[in-house]
Amino acid sequence: MASIMKFTGLVLKNLFSKPVTKNYPAEERKFPERSRGSVQVDIDQCIFCGSCQRKCPSSAITVDRAARTWSIDRMGCVQCENCVNNCPKKCLHMDVHYTQPEYTKVTDTVQGPPPAPKPEKPELTPEKIAELKAAAAAKKAAKAAAEAKND
Ligand code: SF4
Ligand code: SF4
Repeated sequence: MASIMKFTGLVLKNLFSKPVTKNYPAEERKFPERSRGSVQVDIDQCIFCGSCQRKCPSSAITVDRAARTWSIDRMGCVQCENCVNNCPKKCLHMDVHYTQPEYTKVTDTVQGPPPAPKPEKPELTPEKIAELKAAAAAKKAAKAAAEAKND
């Protein structure tokens, strides 16, 4: 009898309350701020060190330093956040949204910008070489004078 009363109460409660399900996709679920969704990279800050690849327990990340690409197997990722916590440049974060459902396995690849050009070395003219030699000789003489003073 007690269970029938409990059941009836539950039925009445559900009859007069809002449904717990959402009208998806018209109404999307709001994820809590600290949800672990999908890993995102700020590729402009990435130095292609490969730390995230080495720390990923499911080998979902591939970093190609030569091609300057960062790839992730979305369906291999277990949202552990290990890569995010070990990135030395702090350029990874967990987006709160989960990866969109797909029929096939998805690997997202992000192309990094080309490397910054190396600063050009100043041209060594005979005058510049003479200037450098004079500066080195002056430095050596100053050091010898200081040592002589201390003796
Ligand atoms: S750990 Fe960070 S900086 Fe290093 S390759 Fe991964 S995303 Fe780039
Ligand atoms: S969250 Fe975990 S499983 Fe997903 S890519 Fe990062 S380290 Fe790998």
